[in-house]
This record gives sequence, structure tokens and C-alpha cells, in this order.
Amino acid sequence: MVLADLGSKITSALTKLSTTTVIDEAVLDSVLKDIKNALFHADVNMMLVAKMSKNVKKAVNIKELASGINKRKVIKKAVFDELKKMLESERPPFEPKKGQPNVIMFVGLQGSGKTTTIAKYARWYQRKGWKPCMVCADTFRAGAYEQLKQNAVRIRVPFFGDPYEADPVAVAKEGVELFKRDKFDIIIVDTSGRHKQESALFDEMQSVRDAVKPDNIVFVLDSTIGAAAIDQAKAFRETVDVGSVIITKLDGHAKGGGALSAVAATQSPIIFLGTGEHFEDFDKFEARSFVRRLLGMGDVQGLVEELKGTGMLDNQPEMMKRLQKGIFTLRDMYAQFQAVMKLGPLNRVMSMIPGLPQGLIPKGGEQEGQNRIRKMMYMMDSMTDDELDGHVELDPHSTRARRIAQGSGTTWMEVSQLLKYQKQMAKMVGKMGKNMPNMMTNDNAFSKQMARNPNAVMQQLQKTMDPAMLRQMGGMGNMMKMMKEMGKNGEMQKMMSKMMGR
Ligand code: GDP
Ligand code: MG
Repeated sequence: MVLADLGSKITSALTKLSTTTVIDEAVLDSVLKDIKNALFHADVNMMLVAKMSKNVKKAVNIKELASGINKRKVIKKAVFDELKKMLESERPPFEPKKGQPNVIMFVGLQGSGKTTTIAKYARWYQRKGWKPCMVCADTFRAGAYEQLKQNAVRIRVPFFGDPYEADPVAVAKEGVELFKRDKFDIIIVDTSGRHKQESALFDEMQSVRDAVKPDNIVFVLDSTIGAAAIDQAKAFRETVDVGSVIITKLDGHAKGGGALSAVAATQSPIIFLGTGEHFEDFDKFEARSFVRRLLGMGDVQGLVEELKGTGMLDNQPEMMKRLQKGIFTLRDMYAQFQAVMKLGPLNRVMSMIPGLPQGLIPKGGEQEGQNRIRKMMYMMDSMTDDELDGHVELDPHSTRARRIAQGSGTTWMEVSQLLKYQKQMAKMVGKMGKNMPNMMTNDNAFSKQMARNPNAVMQQLQKTMDPAMLRQMGGMGNMMKMMKEMGKNGEMQKMMSKMMGR
């Protein structure tokens, strides 16, 4: 990934501080020169780069620094703060409100990635428990309705459109009214673009806006234009009230940093980044988290944020109590799977864990792992309550197991494998439960502690695990790596125990 290049260039510039014994103004200047170079290469506007460098020097004030002070630390912090400032907007981004329809209109040039991004956006909110839907008001581009429909079907989100209607205002109005009546809370309106900024596009945008009265207008911008993004962002903002920006195609080009900083400079809050053609290639944007990840510092805050609403933190106390008692039924397994699925791609989550390289899990393998989990959930969907709760013992060789396979479209072998996993895990949980720290059973304590002192939590987790087992798994670091193996047979329970131990 190209932005990662920028990150590693800045990081290696900063390592000069650790390899030099005496840090004086000349060293600081040389470090800043390297950082400026890296930013230039990412197409960040010269003025912004110069400002950043000047601010770092001012904040560090190296000549006046008392001798006892850790200069390396002061410089690193100043660089971090300035990079963060460069990407921040003073205007807070729009947040949808629960219990009411939030109409969100997407605008942008043709090919910027609106329709793709809408699907990513809908899916993101769907995972967080919202009820999203889509309206296709792009009557300009041939096949626009089909494209939106296909995406909507794939992520199982209701959609509205009319391939025979030529008036975007009529479709937009009808769709939004329909979904409002049906109590959807995230109503996304896809609009048409043009190849360049032209009055026909801007007129149409304004008419659709007047018809649907959106709560937020999201401007979608293709990052490959780099620093030129500033003019486009300004033009759209002057035409409609752009409340937030999503920047796409950050996977392909060296100019991503330029687009990001340019947009931030127009004081439009960036809310998400598109990093690929798949629906999962989507990251919530927050300047602090972004810079931390860029510099390989991990992003525990982002991780906690990501875990929120998935049930992994919320239901923890009760789950932990059960685990402490050594109880782990099929239903518990189901709940854990559900949480894993809601988390989305592990790759994304993993990049937030401090010290872990990005791209640890190959994209293909991950999909396979998810499919496996989904299949197991189908099997459990075909079971009775008594079977799920362990009141009735399920014999892997019984005709009942065969019927579950039939009911879930899987094979007898797969069902018996699932039952084997659950038994293995129940055994492991029985052993681990005794060592579960209290911290994890207290309400909310986990997420608070995680935000306050992640390292302490990591250490605590290591204690939680059976040391012999941890050794067997090759230690904490290796355990993470093992997640990539989850697609393979037999590795599943190891991955799950990681989830338990967390
Ligand atoms: P629209 O005209 O604004 O609706 O744009 P589309 O959603 O149709 O996207 C145009 C093209 O850009 C499609 O081929 C998408 O697959 C691609 N695209 C969208 N977002 C991204 C992204 O984040 N990364 C990459 N590499 N391609 C993207
Ligand atoms: Mg489109």
C-alpha cells in the first residue's frame, strides 16, 4: 500500500533520533528534511509541508530545551501532533441519530467511487446494528441502477430505483419517502456524477438536495488527483453543504497523502477512506488513529471503537462469568462467531494492534475463514434450543447430525467437525476459566482499562492463558499470526481460544 510507504519513510527519518547520540538543531533539521521529502513525494501541498516543519521547530524549541529533557521524545511527539493537525478538520463530522431517519446524499464526480462507497458505508452501519437502505437517483449513467442493485443484493440491504425513470428528483423523492415510512434509519441517496465539474451536475445536485432534504451530504473524492483535490472539494462545498468527505482509491496511488491533507485544509471532516474495490476495504477515518497506524504505532483506541457495538465488549461480563464456570455450549460458540463476523475483516482490525504489521492475513485466506464460520453458524441455526444449550448431547454419528447437515446445506462430516471443535473448546475453557482475571468480569472495565493502559491489558491476557498452552502456541505474538491460519482445519479452536483469552 502506497500510504504505508509514506509511513515507513517518516518512521525511518525518526529513527535517526535514536541512532544519534547528541541531538542538536542540525540533527532536527536533517530529520525534518527527510520528513518533508516524504510528504512531497506523497503530493502534499508545499505550503502545508512548510507549515508543518515550522510548527515542529517551534514546538520543540531545541535551543531552549533543558538538558534533562528527553529530546527524542519531544521531537517525536511534535511530529506526531503536526501530522495529526494536518489531517484534522475543526468542524465535527455528522453523526447519524438513532431512532429517526437519517437521509444521507452522496455526491462526487463520475468514477470517484460513489456507488461502491455507498455499499461499503451501508455495510459498515449494518454491522453496527443500523438499518441502512439505498436509493438510486443516478438516472444519467447507463447501468447505474443495475450496479447499485447488485451491490445491495450482495450485502442484503433494501434498495429503490427505477431504470425507466429519467428524472433523478422524482426517483430520489419517492425512494426516500418510501424508506422513511418503513422506518429505515440510514437512507442513502446515490446521485449521478459527470466527468468534470460542470453546471449540469451542480444543478442536478441542488435539485435532488431540495427534494430529499438530506441530513448530511457526503462528498466522495478520488485520491488519485492528489493535491488538486483542494479545488474539487471547494467547488462541491460551494454548491451544496458538504458535511463530510470520503476519500477513495488510497490503495493505488502515491498521491493519497496529498488528497487527504488538501481536503482537511478545506475544513471538511474526512469520515472514511476507501482502500480497494471490495466492500471490506473501508476504514473509519480519525486523524489521531490514522497517524498512529501510518507510523506503525498501533491504534488501540480505534480497536476499542471497532469492538464497540459488536457485542464483544458489551456482553463480556456475562460471557466471562460463564467461561469462568467452564461453560461453553454451542450457543456460546454461536455468540462468539457472531461477534467475529460483526468485526469484519480481521486484517483491518489487526492493523490496529500495536506492533503488528499490516497485511498479515492475505485477503483470500480471510474470506475463506469467514465462509467457514458462516457455514458453522448455518449448522447451528438448524439445531434446537436444547441442543444449542447442551441439554441434549448431540452425537456426531447420529441420524440427527445428518439431518442438521441436510437442513443447513452442509455435510455430515462438517457437522461432526463442528461438534468436535465445540468439545475441544469447552475443555479448554474449563481449564482457562479458573485463571480468568476479575478485571474481565467487571462491567465495562475491560474497555476502560484497554483505553487507559493497553500494555497492562496485554500482560494481563498473557497471565490469563494457560502458560503451557501459550508456549505451545509460540507466545503471544505468534498467537496473533495464527489467526491467519484460521481458514485451515484444526486451527479454528486455537483462534477461538485467542478470542476467549482476549
Ligand atoms: P461512481 O461513478 O462515483 O459511482 O463510481 P463507482 O462506484 O462506479 O466506482 C468507479 C470505479 O472505481 C469502480 O471500478 C470501482 O470498483 C472503483 N473504486 C471505487 N472505490 C475504490 C477504492 O477505494 N479503491 C480502488 N482501487 N478502486 C475503487
Ligand atoms: Mg455511480
